[in-house]
Amino acid sequence: LLEEIKCIGCGATIQTENKDELGYTPQSALDKGLETGDVYCQRCFRLRHYNEIQDISLTDDDFLRLLNSIGNEDALIVNVVDIFDFNGSLIPGLHRFVGNNPVLLVGNKVDILPKSLKRGKLTQWMRERAHEVGLRPVDVHLTSGKKPAEMAELLAKIEEYRDGKDVYVVGVTNVGKSTIINGIIKATAGVQELITTSQFPGTTLDKIEIPLDDGHFLVDTPGIIHQHQMAHYLSKKDLKITSPNKEIKPKTYQLNPEQTLFLGGLARFDFIKGERNSFTVYIENNLDLHRTKLEKADAFYEKHVGGLLTPPHQEDVAEFPELVRYEFSIDGSTDIVFSGLGWISVKGKAVVAGYAPKGVAVVVRKALI
Ligand code: GDP
Repeated sequence: LLEEIKCIGCGATIQTENKDELGYTPQSALDKGLETGDVYCQRCFRLRHYNEIQDISLTDDDFLRLLNSIGNEDALIVNVVDIFDFNGSLIPGLHRFVGNNPVLLVGNKVDILPKSLKRGKLTQWMRERAHEVGLRPVDVHLTSGKKPAEMAELLAKIEEYRDGKDVYVVGVTNVGKSTIINGIIKATAGVQELITTSQFPGTTLDKIEIPLDDGHFLVDTPGIIHQHQMAHYLSKKDLKITSPNKEIKPKTYQLNPEQTLFLGGLARFDFIKGERNSFTVYIENNLDLHRTKLEKADAFYEKHVGGLLTPPHQEDVAEFPELVRYEFSIDGSTDIVFSGLGWISVKGKAVVAGYAPKGVAVVVRKALI
């Protein structure tokens, strides 16, 4: 029956199962809508009633179509990334889709990085990482969607580069794109109504357009789900525990070889070979760290996951993916990154292993800090 009901706002097929996907509406709202004859998806409902944008995600195919259609526009592309999860928030192949359009790379959540970190160093680091994946942004800008003053600055930056054109904001889910868009809406005086008119070609999705003062628009696009994000394996409660919302206090450990650190029960780090060294951990301040001997680590995890090593919580342990091991020989200032969770940085030579839930990436990169 549901298949036949469409949202009268955007045309998406109404569903009551998945909050983050196209056409979601709570069952109670659907029942009400069916009575009165006007069924909106939750996204269109919020947009109409609260002038508020809610992020939804698209399948890979729809997202590729959407990116392709953006390449055919003459516009400024604003790519929002989460600087705490930089690797996890890059859009694969973005540079191929943007065509000749300029890209402004926006690093969000700057509020959670240590204040001692120089902004210039950070933007330079982001520029280098972007170049590595073929993206050549016209500029790199740091921001925090949670701070209104930063939104005004971001808007000024966008004005500087948009050259009288439209603006398309793109990003994977969870980078804070909707927080930023809602911040921009608040900062833009005079926006009475958001407009959903033209459709993205090849999708059922209408564009959400925020009018700019010269007749052009800032367009919000749906987020794409990055399969390798830790967020997909965590309950809402655990996601709260692992996502930092204020400045991270790095924790430094002096480790001997053949020692192991557990990051809650979500990830594990083995120092296998090398001189005694210091390792600095950048993760949410309240997530517990546990040190053990490497030879006892397997048994320790087996025994304590869901208890001493949490999250995951006991009730989620059965469904939590097994940890998968990645070994690295490193030399120089390096971060071992647990996608979406944080990283451990080390200087010098070492053989190490990082473990993350199956499906979540562990990668090494040039140290950020
Ligand atoms: P979207 O999926 O990209 O639209 O992301 P959301 O806007 O829903 O944000 C994802 C999470 O990041 C939420 O828990 C937000 O509260 C949080 N968030 C967004 N912007 C910031 C920011 O600037 N700083 C911090 N610390 N958290 C943020």
